[in-house]
This record gives sequence, C-alpha cells and structure tokens, in this order.
Amino acid sequence: MGRRAAWLAVSAALALSPLPVLAQSTPNGDVAAERRSSNEQNGVALMRIVVPDQAGVDRLNDLGIDLAEYSKPVDGGIEVHAVLSPEETRDLRGKGFDVRDAISDQADVAKLRQERAKTLRTLADEARSGDTLTPLRAEWFTSLDGQRFLSVEVKTSDPAATNILTASWNGGAGTPPGSGGTATMSRFTDAGQYMYHRFNTPLAIDVTPTEVTVTSTSGGSVTVPVKKWLGEPRKAPSPHYVSDFVDHYMDPTEVYQRIDALAKEFPGQAAIVKLPYKTNGYRRHAQAQFGSAAASTFYVTSQAYGSEGGNDVTVTLAKPDQASAPLTVSLDQDNVTVDLATNAEGVVTSTAKQVVDALNTEAGKLLSASTYRGNAGDGVVAEAATTRLTDNLHAPASVSRDPFQMRALRIGKTRDGSKPGVFLYCQEHAREWVTPLTCVETAERLLRNYRHDPNTRKLVDDLDIFVLPSVNPDGAHYSLYDFNMQRRNMTDHCGPTESDPAYRNSWGVDLNRNFSVGSVYDGYSGASTSCRSDTYAGPAELSEPESRNEVWLTHQFPNIKFAMNTHSYGGYFMWPPGAYKVPGRELLPRADLGTETFFWSASDHILSTVQNWRGTAIWPGRTGPVPDVLYSAAGNSADEHWYNRGIIGWDFEVGADVWNPATKQFNAVGFQPPFAEGHEEAMEFANGQIGILEVARAYASDKVPPKSKLVITGRDTGATKFTFTIDEPATIYYTLDGSRPTLNSPKLKAAGMREGPEQLTVDKTTEVKWFSVDIAGNVEKNYKPAGKGDGYRRQTVTVGGGR
Ligand SMILES: [Zn+2]
Repeated sequence: MGRRAAWLAVSAALALSPLPVLAQSTPNGDVAAERRSSNEQNGVALMRIVVPDQAGVDRLNDLGIDLAEYSKPVDGGIEVHAVLSPEETRDLRGKGFDVRDAISDQADVAKLRQERAKTLRTLADEARSGDTLTPLRAEWFTSLDGQRFLSVEVKTSDPAATNILTASWNGGAGTPPGSGGTATMSRFTDAGQYMYHRFNTPLAIDVTPTEVTVTSTSGGSVTVPVKKWLGEPRKAPSPHYVSDFVDHYMDPTEVYQRIDALAKEFPGQAAIVKLPYKTNGYRRHAQAQFGSAAASTFYVTSQAYGSEGGNDVTVTLAKPDQASAPLTVSLDQDNVTVDLATNAEGVVTSTAKQVVDALNTEAGKLLSASTYRGNAGDGVVAEAATTRLTDNLHAPASVSRDPFQMRALRIGKTRDGSKPGVFLYCQEHAREWVTPLTCVETAERLLRNYRHDPNTRKLVDDLDIFVLPSVNPDGAHYSLYDFNMQRRNMTDHCGPTESDPAYRNSWGVDLNRNFSVGSVYDGYSGASTSCRSDTYAGPAELSEPESRNEVWLTHQFPNIKFAMNTHSYGGYFMWPPGAYKVPGRELLPRADLGTETFFWSASDHILSTVQNWRGTAIWPGRTGPVPDVLYSAAGNSADEHWYNRGIIGWDFEVGADVWNPATKQFNAVGFQPPFAEGHEEAMEFANGQIGILEVARAYASDKVPPKSKLVITGRDTGATKFTFTIDEPATIYYTLDGSRPTLNSPKLKAAGMREGPEQLTVDKTTEVKWFSVDIAGNVEKNYKPAGKGDGYRRQTVTVGGGR
C-alpha cells in the first residue's frame, strides 16, 4: 500500500469522526497564518487546495504533489486535498496556488494512534481478564466482644457458576496483598437472577486490612480499599438516663396495659389513640371430631364461639338397642344426641355423610357438621361417648376472648399534627416475641427520661411519635399460650374442607402480606393465596382489621413521615422496594438515588445506635432494599406506607446472629430465644428506634439547601463523561437540551444495585442545567423548580479531541 492509499484510509476515518477543523479560512479566502501541529511530524498536514479547473489538478500532479484521491467541485473551481509540509505549502503558495486550511493535522493522527493503542490495550486486557469485576462494598467492623469481621460484595460481568471469585486481603497498611487471608466468595442469586458475590456470613479476621483484591477464574481482578462499617460509638447518654423496663416476655394484654399506664402517668407527653377496627379476637369456635378412617370421620363446629357457649356443647353418638332403627338427632339444651340407624341385624348403618346432614338439619342452631377434608363420607360411623366441644384455647382468663381494641401510644409534647410524625409498630408476626418488648422499651425510655435527659426532651418536644406495640394481638396471644410458632392472626378463611380441628394451627392471615401495594393479587412474589400457607395474603387486600388499622393511622395523621416495622429475627435493616414479580424479577420502583443515599447515611446513624448497646453490628450484607438482602414480600406494610403515602418505611429484623468465639461460628437466635438474649435484643433495637427518632428530628430541622458540583469523569474523542457530587443526600434533576430543569426533568440515577451515581455522557458540547433537592425538600440555591426563574445551576461540558 502506497503512501497515498494510507492517507486515504486515515482521511476516511476522519470523515467518520466529528473532529474540529483546526484552522479556518478567513473571509477573504486567505489561510490563517499558522495551525497547530505536532513537532514530531514537522507540521506535515492534509491541506485543502482550490484550483480553478482540471488543468490545475494536473499541474499539481505534475509537480509530484501527494494528492489524496479526492476532488470536489466548489465555487471557483475544484477542491483537492494534498499532504504537505509547511515548506511545500509555502512553495505552492509562491507558485500561486490557493492553499487553504488543513483538513486535519498531525496532532490528530497522533491522537488517533494513541486512541488505537489504548483500544488495543483495553481489548488485550479484556481478553486477559475475561470478566469485569465491579466492587459494590468492602467493609470491616467489630461486633459484640470486639471480634473483627470483613464483608465484601463484588459483581462480575460473567455470572456463570463456573466463574469462581476469590477475595484476598492484606494484613494492614504496608503489608503485601493477600497477607491477611483468602476466601472463596458465594454467588448470590435470587428469583433465578444473579445478584452479586459475597461471603455467606462476614469473615472473622484478626487484623484489619486496608485493601482487598478479588480475582475470578475468568481472569478478572479488582482491588479496593476496605472501609469501616458503622461510625464510632456515640457518647454515653447522660448519667441520669434510665433504661431497661422489660423483665419478661409479655403477652399483648400486658403490653397494651403498659402503654395505657404510661399514658395515664405522663398525660403531658402522651395519649392513647384508639384504632377503629377491632380484631376478630382471641377466640375460636368449639370443635370435636369423630371417627378414625377418613370416609367415616366427620367433625362439628359450634355456632357460638367457645367462650360464648360453644365450649358447653356436647355430642353423643349412640347405638340404639333395637334393630332397624332410624337415624335421629335430639337436643337437650346444649347436649346433642345422635341415635345412629341400624339394619335388621341391629348393626349400625349410618354413614358420616348421613350423620353430617342430620346434624346440620336438626342441630343447626348449635353447630355445623362436615365430612373430613372433603371426603364423600360414605363410611359407617362408630358410636362414641359424650364428647364436649372445645375451642382449644389455653390462655388464662386474664386474656379477654372479645375482639381486641388496638391502640397506639402517641408521644409528643405538641400532639396537634404540626410536628413530623414517626410511626413505630411491632409484632405484625405473632411469634416474634422480642418485638413488642422493643416498642414498649422505647416508649418508656422516651417518657421516663423526658424530664432529665436533654436529648430525649428534644425528641419528645419536636416529634409526634406513634407507638403501636403489637399489630397482631390475637395471634400473639395464641403464640404465647397455644402454638408458639403462630405467625399470622387467628382468623380462619378456609372453607369446611380445611377447617377440621387438626388444622387449627394452620389458619390466619399473614398481616405483612395483606397490604395493597405490590400484593400477590397484583402479581408480586412472596405471598400465597392458600388459606393454610404461612404467607397467606388473606382473601383480599386489606381484608384484616389489623392491617386496616395501620393504614387508618397513617391517613388520620398525615404528618407521619417515617415508619419502622419491627420484626424478628436475623439482624436486618431494610427499606423499599420490598417486592418483585418473579418473571424478570420486576421490582416495585426503586427509591431515587438521593433517597437511597439518605437511607444509607441514616443506616450508619441508626445501626451505630444499635451497636452502642452491646456491640452488635448489623452486617452490610443485611442492610439495604428488602429484595437485595432478603426476598420479595408481596403486600408488606412498608411498601404500603412508602408508595401510597410517601412515608419512609423501614424494616428491622431484631435478633442478629450471635458470634460464638469458641466455635468461630455465627449462631441464629430464632424467634423466641432465652429471655436473657431476647432482653438484649429488645434493648439494642430500642436503641435503634431512638436512633430513628434522631434521624427524623434531624430531617425535620434541616433547613440548609444542598450544594452540588458537576464533575468531569472522562474525556474521549467525541464524548465527555460527567457526574455530580453533593454535600448531603439529595436528588439531582438535570437537563441536557438547554431547557429549564424542573421536578419532571431526568434524575441522576444509581449506576446499579448497591452502586454509586451513574455517569452521564454527552457527544457534543452541552450546557448542563440542574438543581438538587435534599430529603427534607430544601432546593439548591432556593431555586423554584415550579416557577419561572433561572436560579438553577448551569455549566458547559465541552466535547472535543481531548484537549
Ligand atoms: Zn416477621
């Protein structure tokens, strides 16, 4: 390939990329005196020459000029291009040729060569590395007795199970990479989708590393600094601060009595709010079952609740002494006697179905009868001695069998709706025995420290706090006294085929699946429509009084801006979205980047307060949006509050795994740990609830607008990348088309799950206009996005050849 052909190739490449012309013709057609050029190339450049006609072209050719294979008719002649040194240019101009400006100069070629070399290097790197590793988080922390732990999260572009990721870390500043230890990472997938790699549990370490390197068998490698998770312990509360008000697991009757007593004792700072929907109550209809084989078995259920007479009903299955007796049912007050039919030999012939029908006809005012789990009931019934029906409930008489009046304890000096509201609610799930203690402890601390502790006084003076200590009182009574693993409320929505007494521990609605946003009825995952499932969503959204009470409270008090839904166990701190649809793992909308950043910064404060009690660190891997760290929970209450009312809906799971230094393992604590452990969990998460109140108060008193900066992050030929930094959690709204930015303009997004802000790319010089809004609604420079003014921020992002 000759010189000319080579230049043609470069020329064609230049035509494709929008490089600027570096020297312009002056209006009179003269060429600007000098153009920039690379010294290395002695100023050789591709120059534009205009000749009057083809004869002029021929003349240039005769002179041996290195012409490009290019010619174009222009006003006054033909334009051709020639590769010329400055001397040749001067010489041609001396001969009367109209040599004009440069198409490009050698600097551009140098740049192209650099670019090409860089691309080749990148391609080689990629060929070598195979996959790209994106670090999400790398943190160390101490927990409980001071044991140090390491937590690392990395995402690979090659999520195949055969790609093994290994983390290795140093042994502190100045030590060689990998000198601290090495561990294989686990591949975290959910709903069939790859999420990221992490350790299943944080790794115990002896020395704090400053750096971790993750490598993959596909060849990827990334090294990141290891940061400290959770801030320094807070200063100790004032010496007068009192805490620790719970000394046993309490049933909801005791819990509610406690908040009633507090309201009475502190009328200046607290009041009871009665919630309008009474629960179904800690009560059941009385039942009895007769028979052993399915075909000959039936069961009866009293019309009255057990506590309202159902437990007094008896049923006797008698065999008459005579042959050919008919089937009869007789009633004596609450006592039902079935005289079974006999044949000519005096043998009983009544089938289960026949007895059921006779009972329903003759004793329907006392009870209803059903064959066993939908069986046809054609087996012959056996005689049975008098059997008393029972509701199978074992709570002491101190637990009322009436519908339960739920109530919230409203704490605040000014309870007129003018202060920002915080809704703390506990025990949606009955078996999570520690959770109501957490709510009670928080309420007591607020009221008993109000007079002497300045920090408490600020919280009570500046906030409107609603404490609902047990959202599921009926189920919780049942869990305490009858079936400890009861999760749901007590209401049986099953039909007769699933309501025999042996199923009595399988009924009820999962209240944290009964809400109306992202529910199973909307197609979201993580709830069931089966009445016996432990995640049964109920017959419809908001079918249960307990759920409706939560919604009512947030409607009634629209000043509520924060909510904390306290569950057990595992040690989690989570926020919306809380649900996705399984095909495609389609999430409810993620919070925008500013809100997400606020959640992370709030978690640092809140989780540091939790840690302050006995050292428990909630893990980074158990902090974040629900589906990123746990699983989808269709129709949960935090999503209800966030998506329907804009209430920041957080979730706690109290009961973090406890590290056993002897076995060097984490042990899960379960729903009902020994009280000594449950007590500690209640104390540390009451700390966390107080931490939430502190975050809420800081939010309420934030009157300082955020300040942002546009930062160029990369320049390439024809493209410039940039992003923004902000001095506090805030959302950036921007425009790239010169228009005035508003709250409808694009928002700066996260680069990906658990990643920082995205980078924006422009391919031409662009005036970026933007503003930021913090979580409290303060707008940068007090700009009015809905107005007409131009008090937004603006900056021109240039695009060029890299200069
Ligand atoms: Zn729960």
